[in-house]
Amino acid sequence: MAARIVLDAGHGGRDPGAVYEGRQEKDDALRLALAVGELLQKGGLDVMYTRTEDVYDTPYEKAMMANNADADYFISFHRNAAATPGSGRGVEALVFAEGGVPSAIGNEVNEQLEKVGFANREITERPGLVVLRRTKMPAVLLEVGFIDNPEDNKLYDENFDEMAQGIAQGILNALGLQAQTTEQPSSQPVYKVQVGAYRMGNLANQLLNQLLAEGYPAYIIHQDGLYKVQVGAFEDVDPAAEMERALRHAGYNTFLTR
Ligand SMILES: [Zn+2]
Repeated sequence: MAARIVLDAGHGGRDPGAVYEGRQEKDDALRLALAVGELLQKGGLDVMYTRTEDVYDTPYEKAMMANNADADYFISFHRNAAATPGSGRGVEALVFAEGGVPSAIGNEVNEQLEKVGFANREITERPGLVVLRRTKMPAVLLEVGFIDNPEDNKLYDENFDEMAQGIAQGILNALGLQAQTTEQPSSQPVYKVQVGAYRMGNLANQLLNQLLAEGYPAYIIHQDGLYKVQVGAFEDVDPAAEMERALRHAGYNTFLTR
């Protein structure tokens, strides 16, 4: 089974993140997360997003989405800002603790972005950040240049594709997947209950939020051009069927998928 990676576009909705001359961190983060996700999917990963639209969820809710989806990796996309606008530059990877997979991803991504022209600010430990502390899988928060630095923004805008490519390549390098071909031999089947599939991300988000509010371990995957809202990830069919029954009782249309 392909490894599952959750991409989290930082901020969203009523939380714009850092703002500089009308430019909002939440928009840059979403655009980049979606572009990188597309590439990672082609690279053989099972890609999931915490948001595909301009909506707000708390960092804690985002961490829980990744935990509920039984994800293998978590990457959060952000842009940096300095106390004095224009005084900071470059890319930085934040991790809960140095070492292991998170540092490997951070180093690979930083090196790729250095090639695009960004200064490399290396890796910083930030154990207090909720998306790093509450996620159960290796997690990295990428600060992709300073939004309050016109030079970094120029790099961001003029080399956007190259930048997304570099980040995807860095992640794949770190995970040792760059040579991955089509099908991996599947280890264990995972059963999931699908509650909806939409072309429009905002409809999927509505259903996701409703399910989360009702306490279901729901998440969204983007597959075959559809945003699929699914619940749970079960190794055995019995608990999956039980979850499906509970959802049907609650009035949802469901089917079991693998
Ligand atoms: Zn941010």
